[in-house]
Amino acid sequence: MKQVVVLGATGSIGCSTLSVLAAHPEKFAVLALTAATGVDKLFEQCIQTNPRFAAMQDPAAALQLARKLKDAGRATEVLSGTEGLLALAAHPEADIVMAAIVGAAGLLPTLAAVEQGKTVLLANKEALVMTGELFMQKVVNHGATLLPIDSEHNAIFQCLPAPIQQAGCQAQLQDYGIAKLLLTGSGGPFLQRPLASFEQITVAEAVAHPNWSMGQKISVDSATMMNKGLEFIEARWLFNCAASDIQVVIHPQSIIHSMVQYTDGSVLAQLGQPDMRTPIAHALAFPERISSPVKPLDFFSLQSFTFSEPEIARYPNLYLAMAASAAGQGATTALNAANEVAVAAFLAGKISFTAISKVNEQCLNRFLSYQARALDDILALDAETRAYAHQLLGTV
Ligand code: NAD
Ligand code: MG
Repeated sequence: MKQVVVLGATGSIGCSTLSVLAAHPEKFAVLALTAATGVDKLFEQCIQTNPRFAAMQDPAAALQLARKLKDAGRATEVLSGTEGLLALAAHPEADIVMAAIVGAAGLLPTLAAVEQGKTVLLANKEALVMTGELFMQKVVNHGATLLPIDSEHNAIFQCLPAPIQQAGCQAQLQDYGIAKLLLTGSGGPFLQRPLASFEQITVAEAVAHPNWSMGQKISVDSATMMNKGLEFIEARWLFNCAASDIQVVIHPQSIIHSMVQYTDGSVLAQLGQPDMRTPIAHALAFPERISSPVKPLDFFSLQSFTFSEPEIARYPNLYLAMAASAAGQGATTALNAANEVAVAAFLAGKISFTAISKVNEQCLNRFLSYQARALDDILALDAETRAYAHQLLGTV
């Protein structure tokens, strides 16, 4: 029986994780669930899964949750604040930690799980984008097992040869006859929208992804394709590869979740429904396979597969992320911070959709040559970039 901690349990990935776990009560027990606020949702999840622990980032919410659970006659112990999250991420009895907090807030709990050598299921791509080299060094030094949840990276992982998977994906891809990783993306809701009307894009339009149902931040990132940019950086670290080893391919149907091209001309792809419960089930069971509640792919109901190259004018954020990746760790830390501020401001109705890339570009230009390798330097750069991005909000 594997003991599972779900960080960010109330979110889109968290809920999908609980859905897969619920189908396999003989294999997995829920040790702990965490969330930021949202007492009612976490309470409901605690009633369903009966975890030993729960934690809420917000202390007032934690108190409320503890009272509700006590009234319901449940013994779940409730922790609070960052210390609560860190304690559960690193809990000695945890075997698997699902890292599904959104944004930089997930960094420290995810690293805490890595430092205890856990099997870490990484959904929180921002943590890896922020800290890249440091994160991967910690994985190696502490003997953690890192399994990608992001559907593209999970797909690539599945298409890699077993020895690379067993080596934690840190082998030389060329030694195994791999020519390229083909990172697919749908292009989001604005693939066909006339560029002249981008200024008028509303929040409701931006979060309405054509294929995937996800949290708000990643939905906006998918609309700007910053998500693919973050995934490009994520892939470089996860698979130990150069920028020239990765090609971004638009595939609007979101059935092929990514591919690996070999030097003999073979291309291996992972296909499936656009439903995160497939990569979650894969990573929970790896190297075995378990069923997931996802309906099987029916090839006779699929219409066509199409592919194209992303246009720079439509997706400036994708190209900013590639430029940041080429510049180095500081640039990617800064870009991630800028983007979190800009997306939150867009969601709050403070800036336009097109202003997101303006904030990101100005921050990237300012911090392009910064180097940040140690955790303290990374956190300081993250804070400095956020402060600068906030100043820019009134000007874009
Ligand atoms: P979401 O917004 O639906 O959920 C986020 C979760 O994190 C919630 O449980 C929330 O309570 C918690 N949280 C937010 N801020 C927090 C804070 N400051 N402290 C502690 N907890 C906090 O997000 P999501 O869509 O589930 O995405 C989660 C992560 O997974 C993101 O990094 C995203 O990029 C990645 N991801 C998501 C999908 C998807 O389909 N949703 C796919 C691939 C990758
Ligand atoms: Mg993805």
